[in-house]
Amino acid sequence: MVLRDVWLARKRIESIVKPTPLVYSEFFSERSGQPVYLKMEQSHPAGSFKIRGAANKLLSLTEEEKKRGVTTFSTGNHGIATAYAARQMGISCTVCISRRVPEAKLSRLKRLGADIEQTGAGQDEAAVRCRELASKYGMTIIHPFDDPEVIAGQGTIGLELMEQLPELKEVVIPLSGGGLLSGIGFVLKKMDPTVSVTGVTMERSAVMQASLKKGAVVKLEEEYTLADSLLGGIGEDNRYTFSMTRSLMDKGVLLQENRIKEGLYSLLDHHKIIVEGAAAVGAGYLLDQPVSEGPVVLIITGNNVDTNTVKTWMDS
Ligand SMILES: *Cc1c(COP(=O)(O)O)cnc(C)c1O
Repeated sequence: MVLRDVWLARKRIESIVKPTPLVYSEFFSERSGQPVYLKMEQSHPAGSFKIRGAANKLLSLTEEEKKRGVTTFSTGNHGIATAYAARQMGISCTVCISRRVPEAKLSRLKRLGADIEQTGAGQDEAAVRCRELASKYGMTIIHPFDDPEVIAGQGTIGLELMEQLPELKEVVIPLSGGGLLSGIGFVLKKMDPTVSVTGVTMERSAVMQASLKKGAVVKLEEEYTLADSLLGGIGEDNRYTFSMTRSLMDKGVLLQENRIKEGLYSLLDHHKIIVEGAAAVGAGYLLDQPVSEGPVVLIITGNNVDTNTVKTWMDS
């Protein structure tokens, strides 16, 4: 991957993806002792930054590939983003999900016009079905993170940040499969290698951070967390994001559940935004983390919540 790929991505996706605001946070600036800004990636119509990578991947397909359609197995923000972008481009999209996926998600995907293949008891079975469809019908699999076009799409956030706040010194990024961190980190470090990249994950089932520690991909049991969008493995056959995260991340943080909750509440109280747990890990981290050099940017990643989710926060 080279920097030009990210500029190409930006040009490709500009009709589908609008730049997001960068907002100064008086509250987090006071708490951390340095100017803090929020990058509002929850403000995309599809609810998360995932639209950037999904749109770039779809737009980079050949006409022949577009005709054969695409498939994916993520039911979270990536599935939603892929279905949303595919509909805009008239590409047929099949989302493979397990029978366990809740009705709310199912109906959201249906409303986006995606074909649904429901099979098996868990995500792994859905992934198997997805690969079957790909080999049987020639559909292209749109991977949630481990794909250069997806990483380049997420990297367009880095280009926007350099324009909006060229003096930034640190960026705090929620970390799961690492596509987001790889894309933003790649762009910022190319522009200035001294920009510091911090990756934040919940303490439970933090697969990427455990893998980095071990020096090889590990598998972990998925446990309940408020930051559900950060769950999931990084793939035993990981080709890009494991090594990119290893070389780009300066600091890895693991966050307890109560801190994620405090992050959520702070964003609601002081910024009047409702986001999901995964999007609030950076806020939770900065709540009592003195910072020596700023400005700092928090990437606010998504808002895939409903009233039931909010009830769970209150009860947890
Ligand atoms: C996917 C996602 C992340 C993590 O992105 P990765 O590229 O998998 O590291 C963070 N927050 C939200 C809301 C997401 O949907």
